[in-house]
Amino acid sequence: MAVVETVDPGVQGVREAVERYVERYPDYEGALRLYGAVMELQQKALEEVGCSVEMDVEERDARLGTLVTMVDAPELEVDPVRYRSLVKDICTVMEERRPGGFEHSKELYSWDGLSDENLRSTMARVLAGEELPLTSGWEDDSDKILASNILWESLAPFYRKCGSILASGMDQSIWQRGHCPVCGSAPLMGFFRNEDGLWLVECSLCHTLWNLQRASCPFCSESLGSLEFLYIEDEPGKRVQYCSSCKVYIKTVNLRGTDKDVLLPLEDIVTAELDLAASEEGLKPAGRQ
Ligand SMILES: [Zn+2]
Ligand SMILES: [Zn+2]
Repeated sequence: MAVVETVDPGVQGVREAVERYVERYPDYEGALRLYGAVMELQQKALEEVGCSVEMDVEERDARLGTLVTMVDAPELEVDPVRYRSLVKDICTVMEERRPGGFEHSKELYSWDGLSDENLRSTMARVLAGEELPLTSGWEDDSDKILASNILWESLAPFYRKCGSILASGMDQSIWQRGHCPVCGSAPLMGFFRNEDGLWLVECSLCHTLWNLQRASCPFCSESLGSLEFLYIEDEPGKRVQYCSSCKVYIKTVNLRGTDKDVLLPLEDIVTAELDLAASEEGLKPAGRQ
């Protein structure tokens, strides 16, 4: 039985990782520091939020056995006061530190869509990747995308909290699917574990780790044998693992036999060239089919 416990980096862990990454990838300094600031807020929030879902191990495993995730994502109880406070903090980071700032910061954190009554329907839209019903003054599509991203990142600690409780001790062999066993979201990135090469991927929403097999595609039933991979010559330890049938890929760092420590959301930033290479091959990232 393979059990994988996700370790949260904590505020200090994020800070140290950002410094490490900036030293190694100075070209990405701006993006690393900006997202690092968001991650620090998320880690801080994680210490303060609770999980309203109660489930014993038998019920959890029974759900997973019938391919139902632990949390029904749009139905999760999210404390609106804490949520709005995190949205405001992330907006402020964007306003102050993003190149070009964030003109609509105040409009977003005081938006009616985040009210106690409307939060649930807004959450459903954010989780489904639907456009937000923001009205006048939001002509710029890049601002709308930023707004959706801020609302998504602000949800993360609430799902992560549930993941940290509900996924503990889970036997990895009962899931191994292309979406997260806790919240159902797509994987952000993955790594091959140091000690045994086990492929672990991290959820793009709740950041829980889970295991996938390389022998068949987790996204379609059409794959003929193992996933394939491509890499850039400068960094052969980082790959795009993809299915030649459905063309979906997951970026993966090979940590086998190394003592390296990765923080995948930062790894995602510094491997932008892999996304370009994948896109040139007609591949698409998981979650955006
Ligand atoms: Zn998840
Ligand atoms: Zn496939």
